[in-house]
Amino acid sequence: MKARRTIAAALSVLALTAVAACGKDGSPTANADDAAPKLPTYQVKTDAKLDGSPTWKKAKEKGRLTIGAKADQPFLGFQDVATKGRSGFDIEIAKMVAADLGFGPDQIDFQTIVSANRETAISKGQVDYYVGTYTINDKRKALVSFAGPYLVAGQDLLVLKSNTAITGKDSLAGKNICSATGSTSIDRIESTYKGKVVKYDTYAQCVEKLLTDEVDAVTTDDAILKGYAAKNPTKLKVVGDPVSKEPYGVGLNKDDKVLQAAISASLKAHEDNGDWKKAYDATLGLSGSTAPAVPALETSS
Ligand code: GLU
Repeated sequence: MKARRTIAAALSVLALTAVAACGKDGSPTANADDAAPKLPTYQVKTDAKLDGSPTWKKAKEKGRLTIGAKADQPFLGFQDVATKGRSGFDIEIAKMVAADLGFGPDQIDFQTIVSANRETAISKGQVDYYVGTYTINDKRKALVSFAGPYLVAGQDLLVLKSNTAITGKDSLAGKNICSATGSTSIDRIESTYKGKVVKYDTYAQCVEKLLTDEVDAVTTDDAILKGYAAKNPTKLKVVGDPVSKEPYGVGLNKDDKVLQAAISASLKAHEDNGDWKKAYDATLGLSGSTAPAVPALETSS
C-alpha cells in the first residue's frame, strides 16, 4: 500500500511537469504545429494467423491483447495520469506489433509492470508480451524469450544541473545512487560506480529523490534519463558517460517460439517500411536524440 502511494506521488510529480511542458497527447506544445514529427499509423492485419502460438490463440479468443509496459518513462513508456493515455517509443513498438498480430489500438489493454516484476508477469501469462526498456540478456533468457533488439541504449547518470562534482563513473565513490529494483542498472552501481545503492520500484521515484537532493544521482539507460532531463531541463542533466550496451527486446513467453518469430518479423517489416524511424522521431526524438541506425535483429533470442 505504502509502495503504491509512493508510486502515485511520483507519477503525479511527473504529471505536473508533463502538463507544464506538453500538450494533451504528450507532445510538446511548442512543436504542436505542422512541422512536428507525426506518429505513424499501423495497418491492422485482418488475416493474421499464428498457428501453434498459445499466447496468440488465447488473445484471439478473447478479442483483446494484454501488453506490459512502463508508465513513468517520458518519451518511452508514459501514462498521462489525467487522460490515462499512453505515449512513447515503446508504446509505438507495442502497437505496430499488435497490428501485425491482428489487434488494433482499441483492442489493446496495457498493463503497467515495473522492472522487477517483468519475468513473473510474462511467464505467468499476465501479459501477452512486454515492451518497456527491457534489456535482452542471458539471465533473463533463462526465464523468457525476446524478439529484438529494436533499440540499443547505454547506462548513464542523471544529476542536478548544478552538480559539477559528478562527471562520470569515476567520480561516484561514496555517493548515493538511485535505481530501480530488478534492473540491469542497479546491478552496476556496486560493480562499476562503486557508490551506495538506493532502490525504488521505478525511476520516477528516483528522480523525485534527486530533485529533493536525497540522492546524488539516478542511474539507468540514457534513453530513459534523457526523457527526464528533457521534461525538467532547468534542473536536470544527463552526464553522458555510458558504461554499457542495453539491447531492448520485446519480452514474451519462453516457449512460444511462433509468437517470437512473428514479433521479430513484425519489427523487421516496420523498420524496413520507415515506421520505426517515424515513431522514433515523434517520441524519443523529442527528448533531443537523433534516431540511431536500426540495430540488427537477433535470429533467435
Ligand atoms: N534496460 C535496463 C533493464 O532492462 C534498465 C531499464 C529498466 O529497468 O527497464 O534492466
